[in-house]
Amino acid sequence: MKTIFEKIIAREIPADIVYEDNTCLAINDIDPQAPTHILIIPKKVIPRVGDAHADDQSVLGHLLLTASKVASASGLQEGFRIVINNGPQGGETVPHLHVHLLGGRQLTWPPG
Ligand code: AMP
Repeated sequence: MKTIFEKIIAREIPADIVYEDNTCLAINDIDPQAPTHILIIPKKVIPRVGDAHADDQSVLGHLLLTASKVASASGLQEGFRIVINNGPQGGETVPHLHVHLLGGRQLTWPPG
């Protein structure tokens, strides 16, 4: 069964797409936790970072470089946070790897 992110990548359901290239898609999160909350999603189906393989290295690197590029384009010069939730205790709710890019307010530490 397709995840919601696979359906967004296939344009089967709409999303607010802010960036796209051959490897990934970036969309505004539907339930933003900060003024800027963007998800960077690989087009390749990788359920979570814990399931990634050595041959996913370039995809994983591309997601971080894209997050940085999207952060700059979104005006997050004061700083931002990148989060990857992995598994139930990690807070993962969609089993398709994605990088959260959060910014636009002072973020606190530790996260909840
Ligand atoms: P996670 O809990 O790390 O798996 O993150 C899943 C994220 O996807 C959450 O922040 C949700 O708000 C977000 N989300 C779920 N459905 C959609 C959607 N249709 N469009 C945009 N973001 C979504």
